[in-house]
Amino acid sequence: MLDDLTIRTDWTREEADRIYNQPFNDLLFQAQTIHRQHFDPNQVQRSKLLSIKTGGCAEDCAYCSQSARNGATLSASKLIEVERVLAEARKAKEAGATRYCMGAAWRSPKERDMDTLVAMVEGVKALGMESCMTLGMLDDNQVLKLKGAGLDYYNHNIDTSERYYSEIITTRTFADRIETINRVREAGIKVCAGGIVGMGEEQMDRIDMLLALATLESHPDSVPINMLIPIADTPLAETKPLDPIEFVRTVALARILMPKSHVRLSAGRTEMSDEMQAMCFFAGANSIFVGDTLLTADNPGEDKDAALFARLGITAMAPGCDGQR
Ligand code: SF4
Repeated sequence: MLDDLTIRTDWTREEADRIYNQPFNDLLFQAQTIHRQHFDPNQVQRSKLLSIKTGGCAEDCAYCSQSARNGATLSASKLIEVERVLAEARKAKEAGATRYCMGAAWRSPKERDMDTLVAMVEGVKALGMESCMTLGMLDDNQVLKLKGAGLDYYNHNIDTSERYYSEIITTRTFADRIETINRVREAGIKVCAGGIVGMGEEQMDRIDMLLALATLESHPDSVPINMLIPIADTPLAETKPLDPIEFVRTVALARILMPKSHVRLSAGRTEMSDEMQAMCFFAGANSIFVGDTLLTADNPGEDKDAALFARLGITAMAPGCDGQR
């Protein structure tokens, strides 16, 4: 049960399409109005993401340099040591990050890695930061172990619409993804689930991707919206860039359909102008990843983000604050 009657999980495609395609100024006004009802409009959460196991992934996500099936040349590493993760988390905390996200390039974690993963979560929690992991598909036992360690969020993106999904990934299904998301939520871990746009999909795929998230039993607590970073040698290397206005419309629709979720402006910010990012914040994005790298891709550095926040009068959410009204 959702606790607020203005939060709906019964959106229809017609409604979502109408919202997305209304005149741009009306869309932004609606998104900003809803954003203000639920969040401080001038606060943005800063999260830090660390790759704890890079490359050699068995999945075939067409956008990803870490897939062993794509032509990208990234070499595979082992799961890194707990102390290294915690040293990086301490640095991130000192630099102002309040959430620490750890990502591993796996189809799913192996049993032998679970104790290490549990120790990472416990260590990050002991620093007073929120913890988030993305490790691929999880079974019930793995979910319970991570919940027992105190994991706050689990990230599992649906990537795109169900219709377009098989153009992007063939090694696991859209239904597999929804199953993991439901399993995580049922265990009481907050869900972080979003997708990637600019992968050659149609407008209706962007709408349907958000609709799939907004009509889950409850909305994901965090909705990352990524802009494709075309990576050499991957199947999407030559994909034409998406019109930035379409990207902003996607962010606005996410905010309107899922009013209380943190909408996170994720990968692709290096290619976005300050003005485009400002427009995304106005459309309701209220979380970013900070630091020079995002798993394996470039990200604007701390200085650039601090300068942008100062120009826009935005402050970073304090630890323990979710920016909600
Ligand atoms: S996106 Fe994740 S699951 Fe897909 S290939 Fe890359 S690392 Fe593997």
